[in-house]
Amino acid sequence: MSATGNTFSRGLETEVQFLKGIGPRQAEPLRKLGLRRVLDVLWHLPRRYEDRRNIPPIRSLRPGDYATLRGRIVEVQSRPLRHGKVMLRVAVEDDSGSIDLIWFNQPWHARKLSTYKGEMLVYGLVKEGSVKLEISSPDYELIEDEDDAEAFASIVPVYPLTEGAYQKVVRKAAKAAIDYFLEFVVDPLPDDILRQYDLAPLRWCLAQTHFPTSEENRLKARRRLVFEEFLYLQLVLALRRAEVAEETGISFPIAALEQGETFTPVAGDEPIDSLFVGPPGQVTHPKLWDEIHSILPFELTNAQRRVIGEVFRDMGAPHPMNRLLQGDVGSGKTAVAACAILAAVRSGYQAALMAPTEILAEQHVVSLRTLFEPLGIRVAPMLGKHKAADKARSKSHAQIGLAHVVVGTHAIVQHDVKFANLGLAVIDEQHRFGVLQRAALRTKSDRSPDVLVMTATPIPRTLTMTLYGDLDLSIIDELPAGRRPIKTHWKLPSERASIYRGVDQLIEQGRQAYVVCPMIMESEKMQTQAAVELFERLKTLEFPNRRVGLLHGQMKAPDKELVMAQFRAHELDILVSTTVIEVGVDVPNACIMIIEDANRFGLSQLHQLRGRVGRGEFQSFCILVGAGTTDDAQERLSIMTQTTDGFKIAEADLKLRGPGEIAGTRQSGQLDFKVADLIQDGKMLEEARQAAIKIIAEHPKLEGEQWDAVRDKLRDQRIEEALITVS
Ligand code: ADP
Ligand code: MG
Repeated sequence: MSATGNTFSRGLETEVQFLKGIGPRQAEPLRKLGLRRVLDVLWHLPRRYEDRRNIPPIRSLRPGDYATLRGRIVEVQSRPLRHGKVMLRVAVEDDSGSIDLIWFNQPWHARKLSTYKGEMLVYGLVKEGSVKLEISSPDYELIEDEDDAEAFASIVPVYPLTEGAYQKVVRKAAKAAIDYFLEFVVDPLPDDILRQYDLAPLRWCLAQTHFPTSEENRLKARRRLVFEEFLYLQLVLALRRAEVAEETGISFPIAALEQGETFTPVAGDEPIDSLFVGPPGQVTHPKLWDEIHSILPFELTNAQRRVIGEVFRDMGAPHPMNRLLQGDVGSGKTAVAACAILAAVRSGYQAALMAPTEILAEQHVVSLRTLFEPLGIRVAPMLGKHKAADKARSKSHAQIGLAHVVVGTHAIVQHDVKFANLGLAVIDEQHRFGVLQRAALRTKSDRSPDVLVMTATPIPRTLTMTLYGDLDLSIIDELPAGRRPIKTHWKLPSERASIYRGVDQLIEQGRQAYVVCPMIMESEKMQTQAAVELFERLKTLEFPNRRVGLLHGQMKAPDKELVMAQFRAHELDILVSTTVIEVGVDVPNACIMIIEDANRFGLSQLHQLRGRVGRGEFQSFCILVGAGTTDDAQERLSIMTQTTDGFKIAEADLKLRGPGEIAGTRQSGQLDFKVADLIQDGKMLEEARQAAIKIIAEHPKLEGEQWDAVRDKLRDQRIEEALITVS
């Protein structure tokens, strides 16, 4: 078929009604499916396939088989049923036996089949019938010539459909599109990329995806489409990394700090006030690592030290740091943040630390003050709940440089805080923040500050590579020495009495316990009510001799703080809480975590909650109370009892919930793949990532004609990305 014919002159833009075998009438349901042009049909890919190639003798069929059979019609019988329904029964036989085909209220089959004398092919689910085996509403094809037979008894695509569209019509459209329009398809990938990564050409892949000639070919075609999809995303990310690398950032004098040498701050950067000793314009101070060791109450783990090294290397470089720090709950990320902040402040810059909740921000304020105040480094809180006057003071201190470190919630971004000289922004528990907030922080200063993003939510590597693929990655893969693995038990609600006896014994030994109340989705008010009830019950009935406290989201901020402070100071034995303690809270003496109605929680949330214990030297316990009400709930609870490894839990979570849910960005264009599947295609993602890095290294801006088509594709991707919503 040539491209010069009238109908085809618009190539892939041709309307579907001009496809062979599709007229205006059949085009209508296709349009409803979103298939307006030939292009749409080509990219409307099968959801699954039916392998109809094997045609066994009818006698060998068993109920439950999906089977293809070939035979002749021996009887056609229509029978009226109650309610005006009509049942059509068509007996088909081959040399070995016979089977019934059944339809209800579809008289056109009777018209077509009662006069037909030749052979037919049938595909469907075999069931036990009243007389013999039968197939309801089968797919069938009358064999008028052997080509029909060949098309039917093949690997047949099954397309996603909406109401009113038939598989047969979509298949016909796809067949015609593949037969007559493939030549208009342009392969966006350059030949040498296809060769290098052993990818089949696009035209072949489309043909094999719609109408595979073998399972092997189908997989080969799929491999290319998956690779291509991942490659575009990874190219976008690689380009963005390259852009950041070209931005002017701050080159912190890390080497000088480490040596304790005198240094002159970079031209144009005004160091802030009195932290520096030495002649004007030049500064000296104790060696950086000596200071770090002097303020931290423990030895850093090897993993912490390695990660701090990676952070310092980025900070020393002249382009902005853009790094993701992953470390399981309790792995000691705060210490890493503190080291980075210290280095920034010692270089004459301000730092900001953002946390997702007030409680966590407050905790960071407390711990950073403890570490830094002896050094004269001033930490200013910036919390949403603060009085306007306090906020105004912190704000002005940030602006004039009197505050060296500003710690807060999103208030930092939202309240238009200006910094005299922001050099470093640390974002704790990134999964609660969106891409947009990360971007907002960048604009707080003229130069791009260094950004360190920390997360305890172990994200499966595949998701890290997609969602945060523009960040460099550091991983703390080691817990501080002496930690004992948390013992996790799944108990039924009927076992509460014995649970409480165990808890009481541990409290007797001086330990503390969290009791997390049921998660109630309906409203925060109901959740609060549940917490209050549980609190009353524990205080008066179960633990009358113990000091029991209550924490929930609807309490006033000072009350919350008071309770947390009491718990931290061991003035409370038991803290009854809603999930507000989920993230980051750190009380090492608390080593019992009881989660009520644990079956209602998601895996990552359970893992986060469990991470509140196991932070000190004592054996910790996590008791999941709940009935496994659904298969998923059972699976979640039993995974929790089997492993404390956050990454294993994350992988399991990914399988149970799917990538979109985990990322919390359900509309995220970045996770919306047409062919690829993050769970199944992780290895391919890695390959595509390596390929993208290599391509960008060799062709930094993807210049040149051979990349034209790829650049077009990337432009579409960038638009989608701008639409990512904040979770
Ligand atoms: P996370 O990574 O979950 O934010 P934190 O930074 O809150 O963890 O640290 C968890 C606990 O471990 C804290 O009590 C902290 O003081 C302690 N910790 C951190 N690093 C070490 C270390 N190297 N040795 C001993 N304890 C440590
Ligand atoms: Mg933390």
